[in-house]
Amino acid sequence: LQSRLGDVFDKLRRRASLSEDDVNAALREVRVALLEADVALPVVKDFIEGVRPKAVGQEVLRSVTPGQQVVKIVHDHLVEMLGGTPGADEQAAREGRYPGAAESDLDLNAPAPVPILMVGLQGSGKTTTTGKIAKRLSEKQRKKVLMASLDTRRPAAQQQLKVLGEQVGVATLPIVPGEPPVAIAKRALSTGKLEGYDVVLLDTAGRLAIDEELMAEVVAVRDAAQPHETLLVADAMTGQDAVNVAAAFNERVGLTGIALTRVDGDARGGAALSMKAVTGKPIKLLGTGEKLDALEAFHPERVAGRILGMGDIVSLVEKAAETLEQEDAEAMAKRLAKGRFDLNDMHKQLQQLTKMGGLKSMMQMLPGVPKIQDQLKKANVDDKVVKRQMAIITSMTKAERSRPELIKASRRQRIAKGSGTSVPEVNKLLKQFAETQRMVKKVKKMGGMESLMGGGM
Ligand code: GDP
Ligand code: MG
Repeated sequence: LQSRLGDVFDKLRRRASLSEDDVNAALREVRVALLEADVALPVVKDFIEGVRPKAVGQEVLRSVTPGQQVVKIVHDHLVEMLGGTPGADEQAAREGRYPGAAESDLDLNAPAPVPILMVGLQGSGKTTTTGKIAKRLSEKQRKKVLMASLDTRRPAAQQQLKVLGEQVGVATLPIVPGEPPVAIAKRALSTGKLEGYDVVLLDTAGRLAIDEELMAEVVAVRDAAQPHETLLVADAMTGQDAVNVAAAFNERVGLTGIALTRVDGDARGGAALSMKAVTGKPIKLLGTGEKLDALEAFHPERVAGRILGMGDIVSLVEKAAETLEQEDAEAMAKRLAKGRFDLNDMHKQLQQLTKMGGLKSMMQMLPGVPKIQDQLKKANVDDKVVKRQMAIITSMTKAERSRPELIKASRRQRIAKGSGTSVPEVNKLLKQFAETQRMVKKVKKMGGMESLMGGGM
């Protein structure tokens, strides 16, 4: 009976793995989706080649098609490429936290006044983004911020920043007509130091396209200001050209991050992937409108969903994975209700513990059994301990796992060696196992669990 139940467990998984044909077919569609999202062609190619080996041979979850499974793998790869951790948002939601950005946004960890240089093409949103950052730093982070416009090219540019400053209640450097950009930068920093500002934002002039004159000017400003952050402000609608712009600024000026604007428009955000891939620099901020509070932290998972445009499939596959976990937990709960608990079950428990949410779903399956909940909690004290415990069980033979009484001294030595642990650790695990088993049997005898779980099990 023991082994038959074991088989039931395995059947739940009904493994099938992704063939090369499955993967190729799905990746052809992914390629189209990425190009439609305006990811630059060379980046698309690299991306596809990077994800292919990850997908081939992976197991397919029940109730989803191989194609859907590939999309999920692609999505997770995309999240990683964008600097995120797949599943992090979901985990945050489960833990009741607000999902945070993957890579921190602005780094202000430098002696005040911290110089921040804003660079980019004309019309990309530099001045607006400067105002947005100033507003956020002063209102939310209580920083004393000074803004200075180094845009001496467009007649109204310096005035534009001054007006913005008045709107958000942030100081701007007084305008001195005819003063060249490098001199403005120096004056901004010395004023910043003298008057005790925390941050000095330097808004530079742009051009319609990259040219030598623009780059030389920005480089001169950079050398004078020694910025702690150099942000490329780029329009999300830039499309295929995003790669060239980002690469050029990164090579000549050196970037610390990217602020992507007009994310509120129709663009699917492929530029984010292109620029991150080409520069290796994090996307730090998103501009989501003309209003001065339309500035958001960058969420890799959200942007990945938008780029791929296959959010439904991704959540379908996530759901399927969840269902499988749930079924595992239910099957185990049934075994527990019958007073059965062997080392295979313990291994499953530990596996569940290593996954967030696993513990919670286990507990939901075991209503009113606080002792087991305590045990599970105790077993979860340390991830490393759990991993070692799993290794110990994995080093046992099938027979040992279902009949732990077989494990005598010599076997304990073998298991310790095989799992890279020690005999005392093996002993400890077996003792813990015996306690849990005793408790499961006791609960069964009291009839507690069966009645609690609605009987009929
Ligand atoms: P600059 O030349 O790089 O300084 O660009 P500006 O900051 O002057 O912005 C150019 C135009 O883009 C202005 O009309 C802004 O209101 C608009 N803009 C800037 N950021 C955003 C954004 O995130 N969303 C939208 N919809 N418009 C933006
Ligand atoms: Mg401007």
